[in-house]
Amino acid sequence: MDRLRDIVIVGGGTAGWMAAAAFARVIGTQAHSITLIESEEIGTVGVGEATIPPIMQYNALLGIDEDEFVRETNATFKLGIEFIDWRQVGSSYFHPFGKFGAAIKGGVGFMNYWLRWVQSGGDPDFSRFIAEAEAARMGKFARIQASADGQLPRINYAYQFDAATYAAYLRRYAERRGVVRREGRVVDVEQNSETGYIEAVKFGDGTRVAGDFFIDCSGFRGLLIEGVYKAGFDDWSHWLPNNRAAAVPCERVEEPTPFTRSTAREAGWQWRIPLQHRTGNGYVFCDAYIAEDEASRLLLERLDGEPLADPKILRFTAGKRRRGWVKNCLAVGLSSGFLEPLESTSIHLIQVAIMKLFEMFPMREVNPVLIDQYNREMDLLYDHVRDFIIAHYKVTERQDTPFWQYCRNMVVPDSLAEKLELFKERGEAHAVPSELFGETSWFAVLYGQGLIPKSYHPIANMLPEDELQLALARVRTAIRQRVDSLPSHAAFIERCCAAQAATTAA
Ligand SMILES: Cc1cc2nc3c(=O)[nH]c(=O)nc-3n(C[C@H](O)[C@H](O)[C@H](O)COP(=O)(O)OP(=O)(O)OC[C@H]3O[C@@H](n4cnc5c(N)ncnc54)[C@H](O)[C@@H]3O)c2cc1C
Repeated sequence: MDRLRDIVIVGGGTAGWMAAAAFARVIGTQAHSITLIESEEIGTVGVGEATIPPIMQYNALLGIDEDEFVRETNATFKLGIEFIDWRQVGSSYFHPFGKFGAAIKGGVGFMNYWLRWVQSGGDPDFSRFIAEAEAARMGKFARIQASADGQLPRINYAYQFDAATYAAYLRRYAERRGVVRREGRVVDVEQNSETGYIEAVKFGDGTRVAGDFFIDCSGFRGLLIEGVYKAGFDDWSHWLPNNRAAAVPCERVEEPTPFTRSTAREAGWQWRIPLQHRTGNGYVFCDAYIAEDEASRLLLERLDGEPLADPKILRFTAGKRRRGWVKNCLAVGLSSGFLEPLESTSIHLIQVAIMKLFEMFPMREVNPVLIDQYNREMDLLYDHVRDFIIAHYKVTERQDTPFWQYCRNMVVPDSLAEKLELFKERGEAHAVPSELFGETSWFAVLYGQGLIPKSYHPIANMLPEDELQLALARVRTAIRQRVDSLPSHAAFIERCCAAQAATTAA
């Protein structure tokens, strides 16, 4: 069987350039040609600034130097997300990237011992037992490895970066390694009349770009996956009703925080993503509950600093392409689905799609078993992420606006309903290994949103009270000492990876 030779990526947004850079690194341009087509006239979404920790694996694959990467993308470090007004107006909690507590002799997860302690009068602020949450609260950051005694894991973090400079950074990386960029608008596609495989895409002047395998990174429109293959779309807007975002950058008025902030609003929520040179902001909302003009006006009113542009409106529908891989075409990025940016998962889903393609790298004639396997695995991942995001809306005490009344009363997928039931009963936030969000994430969000478990795992009662007190005190002290030793986030950036413009502007 023939191997793949010519790979064509249609689209040069974050998805297109992430794919191009990874292809250049992994399969190279000696034995393959890698062509990326993009259209300046169409442009990119141009948002997507907050990430989650697995992005480290993508950067490691590329062999990127972290300090250089942070400098060149005006990035800051992210230890998690602060959620304000989500449970009720006036409440807040932190969803950290780290691990809850530490292992306690006795056999069940830390959260069970903590729940036992809280139910007998302990401090219900769980973030005191998570180093990342404590560091975020104090505006501190450093790259810290696991403690020598194995008690505390490494500080877990991700980045907040400028979407435009990120794509530009990856473009430089990919082009230096032989990826060829073609400017132009694809208007037509040639398919093999027998197999239905795409053979070439065509520009308006008739020029063709031929290939063996096509990566559709054309954004929401899904030029190939939907335009050619009619792969279908599972619309999830009854669970995730937000379908608009107004986005605007503003001046930075304080040291950048090592976390993203998400504030629940009357008809959705507002993000605040601090970068080195500016702050990214957006109001994600549902247009059935607030008009675009009104959302933009409120967003401008609620900025920390002076706006640096007019708000840009983005329109989307939450959901997933029914089949992300069809014949010799793989959809990556927004062309494969979008779940709204509440937990910063889109860039991660791009990364997973690329990694899975490497794992299942096909021959020229693609084995349909690979395609089925890929589509099944991606479906599972999407479902898990979807449930996690829905939980933020469903589990709330807010009823103050029609938007929140809808969310609180909606019927959720069975998979999530079961999870919520078990959590309510005994604080169990069991996550299967393939799930992106693990136990600590589920615990932080469900507890933070106000779902307080009635009980905990019965084995947690086996530990004598004095040993429990001692173990918790030991963990708390270890976390406090660790966080005390960290520099401020701003000082860390200044020392290691300050962007040129940001240093002079600040
Ligand atoms: C409001 C909002 C906030 C977000 N926030 C986050 C976040 O914080 N974290 C996160 O991980 N993700 C976030 N995302 C998602 C993130 O922005 C996207 O996943 C990411 O930008 C990838 O987009 P893309 O490359 O798939 O599509 P696009 O950026 O839309 O790029 C599409 C590309 O295809 C090209 N193209 C299209 N049609 C043609 C054609 N006919 N011919 C030639 N070229 C064509 C365009 O020119 C462009 O280059 C957010 C998304 C939205 C909408």
